[in-house]
Amino acid sequence: MGVVKDWRDKELSISEVIRKYPHISPFVIIKTDVQRRGVNYTEKALAKVDPDIHQVEYRGMFREKGDATPVSLILRDGTSILTAFSVEEGKREPILVDVIDDRIVLVDQGEILEEVEYWEKPDYYDKFTSSGKPMWQIAAARPQRIDINPNQYCQFWETPGHGCKYCSIAATYNSSKENKPKILNVDDIAETVEEALKEPGRYESIFLTGGSILNGKELLDEEVDLYIEILKRIGKNFGGKRFPSQLIGTAFNEEQLRRIYDTTGLTSYTADIEVLDKDLFEWVCPGKSARIGYDEWKRRLYKAVEIFGVGNVTTGLVVGVEMATPKGFQSEDESLEKCLAEAEELAKHGVSTVGCVWNVAPGSVFFNQMSPSLEYYIRFADGLDQIRRKYNLNVDMDNYRRCGNHPDTDLSRI
Ligand code: SF4
Repeated sequence: MGVVKDWRDKELSISEVIRKYPHISPFVIIKTDVQRRGVNYTEKALAKVDPDIHQVEYRGMFREKGDATPVSLILRDGTSILTAFSVEEGKREPILVDVIDDRIVLVDQGEILEEVEYWEKPDYYDKFTSSGKPMWQIAAARPQRIDINPNQYCQFWETPGHGCKYCSIAATYNSSKENKPKILNVDDIAETVEEALKEPGRYESIFLTGGSILNGKELLDEEVDLYIEILKRIGKNFGGKRFPSQLIGTAFNEEQLRRIYDTTGLTSYTADIEVLDKDLFEWVCPGKSARIGYDEWKRRLYKAVEIFGVGNVTTGLVVGVEMATPKGFQSEDESLEKCLAEAEELAKHGVSTVGCVWNVAPGSVFFNQMSPSLEYYIRFADGLDQIRRKYNLNVDMDNYRRCGNHPDTDLSRI
């Protein structure tokens, strides 16, 4: 896969999009393009990384200083750019992170777009659980959120052809050299959260997600049991009361949702529908479609609103996959019209829709696809934000401080 030579001739540039959409924050437009195209770091930019200060990931096995890459960037207005998922080799040139006049900056075609900083490392990152596990492997930190991913694998991949086509979780897990367990130890999670919460003023919510676990007496019962066990342990830090938290799980049935709500302190629930069209859902997410189905997924979200309350239930999209070839929408206008109509239908039932920027992942079925234009992403984010305003839906659980990964929720901060 190589860069498509004339891609810049076919779509508006960052500065053209900024001029055409003056009501959209330029920070959000820049963030969106960085997430869409990925980043490369110059040697000077990597020399500014200090693993004692910054939150980093390591490109090699040996965790050496010169091998450390920032997990994410932050812009001057507090907008985050999660770059950890960046592709190495895309169809468009990545944005460059460079150092000019001693400032760390984003650069495209030789022009400085914006100044950035690297995320700071939380206090617990260098500590170990009593079983000897490094705490950074147990929980990650978003700006003001503790992120736990208890199940590092997804059982949809156990049926051939059932994995979501943009998803690389199975390829990532299978290529891991660290011999990772599929499911994290609950004691390790509880200890890590307790330690993380000691850092004054850093966190305002706790987040859980992971691959689907289909097993159980009822489909997904084991996934529900795992989250309940973890939430109960974490809840001890809050005297067993409800605490600011979010779970992105599979679409659970009503009994499962009630069980989670009644037995834990969870405050908000998300089940990602990924793509807002029934036929495309069947093509892009064949496992979800076969085991639960598009209409039933939506019905379960509506039930979740009855249980968790309006403003506490969201669904996530991988924005751009609805344009994948050959079955996706042929035009950006048609796609926006149909997807935003579906998002409005969800909003009428109290469900807020948030989008992630599709970053074409190596190891996914869609590895050779090309994401849509920057303008499309901005129109999509704007549309989701406007729907949220029209229906007065709160999206604080996914806001720029807690999550930082959605251009549309960045727009909802103002
Ligand atoms: S449900 Fe789909 S997107 Fe989520 S981990 Fe499984 S395959 Fe990946």
